Amino acid sequence: MNAQSAYDQLTRCSREQTLLGSCSALLGWDEQTYMPAGGAQHRGELMAYLAGLHHEKATDPRIGEWLSEAEQSDLVADPVSPAAVNIREWRRSFDRLTRLPRTLVEEMARTTSLAQQEWIEARKGSDFERFRHWLAKIVGLKQREAECLSHGGPLYDALLDEYEPGAKSREIANLFAALKAELVPLVAAIAGATRRPDGSLLQREYPVDRQRVFGEAAASAVGFDFQKGRLDTTAHPFCTGIGPGDCRITTRFDARCFSDAFFGILHETGHGLYDQGLAPEHYGTPMGEAVSLGVHESQSRLWENAVGRSLPFWEHFFPLARQVFHETLHDVTLDAFHFAINHVAPSLIRVQADEVTYNLHILIRFELEQSLLSGDLAVEDLPGTWHDHYFRALGVAPRNDAEGCLQDIHWSAGLFGYFPTYTLGNLFAAQLMDQARHELGDLDAAFAQCEFQPLLGWLRAKVHRHGRRYHAPQLIAQATGRPPDHQPLVNMLRQKYGALYGL
Ligand code: ZN
Repeated sequence: MNAQSAYDQLTRCSREQTLLGSCSALLGWDEQTYMPAGGAQHRGELMAYLAGLHHEKATDPRIGEWLSEAEQSDLVADPVSPAAVNIREWRRSFDRLTRLPRTLVEEMARTTSLAQQEWIEARKGSDFERFRHWLAKIVGLKQREAECLSHGGPLYDALLDEYEPGAKSREIANLFAALKAELVPLVAAIAGATRRPDGSLLQREYPVDRQRVFGEAAASAVGFDFQKGRLDTTAHPFCTGIGPGDCRITTRFDARCFSDAFFGILHETGHGLYDQGLAPEHYGTPMGEAVSLGVHESQSRLWENAVGRSLPFWEHFFPLARQVFHETLHDVTLDAFHFAINHVAPSLIRVQADEVTYNLHILIRFELEQSLLSGDLAVEDLPGTWHDHYFRALGVAPRNDAEGCLQDIHWSAGLFGYFPTYTLGNLFAAQLMDQARHELGDLDAAFAQCEFQPLLGWLRAKVHRHGRRYHAPQLIAQATGRPPDHQPLVNMLRQKYGALYGL
């Protein structure tokens, strides 16, 4: 077989795996939106069947043969050509999957499925003891998985690589340490400021049907295409790309909370804009996929925070909000509203944290999950260590495990190495935004006139259309002219919150 036909076979296989993944994604979306409770068991069987089929296809030994053929050909001569990129990424994924014994994959799936149910109950009762041995079992399985995948480096890096290809924990730790050194004094300065926002005006009555209309209007205005996507309601918001022309986002509504649904919608819209911006002609191959979770999160945070919590954005949207929620906002000024949506205060729950303190929550998890995996931190010591870390970093400490180490679903689902991608997303977002402002001129004036196309077009060209051509740090360097750095985020936070809080 020649290299071109090997490449064609690899493309066919990749498309087939992507179609199977798309079926699972659609079933997963349905499970969280419209599936009747009685369908859970049958849905579990469908998902397991598709996952098994996917694994079988993805580890077909012929893939290894085709890859060897293609890797020795001219197809890889230019390392950033679509063919070379696809071959590189197929090799990476094939090597990862074939290194994991099927028994381990099955045991992980079974254990995490049960552990998530136990986690839900344990969190409800704030009972770490109930979850403790499940977590210990998952940590053991993840250690075995990391040993299978590791090339002799830190075990943690082998897991991190799944979400942030090529990332190294040592480099991330350096980046995070530099960020922390700047964030801690900023949080303290804000805490000592005399100027305070009135956060209560976001907890007035906001009728849910109007929240939906207003949120959809904002999503549409920034560029989300509702002919190629839709918004539904779920307990935990997410975005899932089903395929070209079909991207689903979700949110949750609370009639006495404006921020949750609105900024949730903008966040998921940011993820959705990335999915809608991927090159459809590369669908089914790595060139048509997102780079990493960190880059994905950069898109959601950019639209949620850099755009959605900015004053110019509300110069356009606040008059509309006052019409839609007239009884609620008639006595509120634009400045008071803008200050309220940018309220900063150390808190215990990550998903409710503001833009300034959020990264401190992530840094704690990043440290703790590395210690759990290396064995330096015993599972039974987690609640106490969590408590100490929060007190040191944020000056607050959980009264119970539900608002402490049981708050996140990630570890129960086996997601170790996932948390740092949230902060990478914030760092990338700030750096991209900085460069976009530099290249595109007065973006604030554009936002105030509800013009988001210049920014979206720039992101499409610099980020979306590249698919997996570059690893995240290279992509950011290509787009902004410098490697990922903490300074743009720190500068942005200092400037924005310095002005708001009068520092
Ligand atoms: Zn996100």
